[in-house]
Amino acid sequence: MLKITGSTKVICIFGDPVAHSLSPVMHNAAFEALSVDMAYVPFHVPAQPPGDLKRAVSAIRALSIHGLNITIPHKEKVMSYLDEVDSHALAVGAVNTVVSRSGSLIGYNTDGEGYLQGLKQDAGFTPRGKKVVIIGAGGAARSILYSVLLKKPKEVVLVNRTAARSASLAREFERKLAFKIQTAPLDGDALRRSAQGAHLVVNTTSIGLSGRGELDFPMELLADGAVVSDIVYSPLETAFLKKARARGFKTHDGLSMLVHQGAIGFKLWTGRRPPVAVMRAAALDALAAKK
Ligand code: NAP
Repeated sequence: MLKITGSTKVICIFGDPVAHSLSPVMHNAAFEALSVDMAYVPFHVPAQPPGDLKRAVSAIRALSIHGLNITIPHKEKVMSYLDEVDSHALAVGAVNTVVSRSGSLIGYNTDGEGYLQGLKQDAGFTPRGKKVVIIGAGGAARSILYSVLLKKPKEVVLVNRTAARSASLAREFERKLAFKIQTAPLDGDALRRSAQGAHLVVNTTSIGLSGRGELDFPMELLADGAVVSDIVYSPLETAFLKKARARGFKTHDGLSMLVHQGAIGFKLWTGRRPPVAVMRAAALDALAAKK
């Protein structure tokens, strides 16, 4: 049982909505497992008035809160209220983790790196020299794409329903990282070309969330031994992953990214090695309890 005393440091999460977040159970389980004197609490900070992100960040300073996570829809806007944003988060254009150091609030983005750490540990895959297909061009895709590009893949294809959005994201990161990014729509011959010989395909859209919708992706064209990954974690095995498993591909679930982005945050706040297995088990229990 987590014990809160007069010296307990507080970590929190701001979001709208926030009640669904698995981060409180995941981090509190980690604090308890390592006897770290910290407690993690959710705060609903509405996107619309009377919600006021700027004042919520001021409260972090006023209350000497040690760190926080930022989730949808505040990841971009929060940047202007912090004292410092690290270069990776600045390039991605979003912050999901904040640490208070001697009263200065410093922003990081652990989403992309967390995704890759999970992919390596849970599916044994690293993008260097590989063909990678990213489906989606929203906030999660931005973080994952940027981190994948830093690992020097051979080829990257960004697939999205709205072509203008993927084109704009591709051009922005091409300028930043001098790497040619291909784009393709969610159907037709261009999608088939994107799938051909790919070593990793990752769904970063909300298709499949809560069992709604199914991605129609030509998996049969992937390279032998390819990894099929989905960042949706509810359900843990989406229809996309189920189809991949049935075809004999290695699959990688969305809880892996959630746990590993949190694990990097845990290290930033505590300086301790994160108990990843404890965090995953706690998140799994919380997911099962929601059913
Ligand atoms: P977002 O910024 O709103 O982007 C949504 C993306 O999904 C866009 O590319 C959008 O395409 C696409 N999309 C949505 N509905 C679609 C549909 N019916 N058909 C085709 N494309 C569709 O959202 P996000 O923040 O990137 O989050 C995306 C998903 O990732 C959510 O389910 C979220 O829960 C999950 N997520 C998981 C983690 C994790 O740790 N595992 C972390 C972050 C997010 P258009 O551009 O065409 O609209």
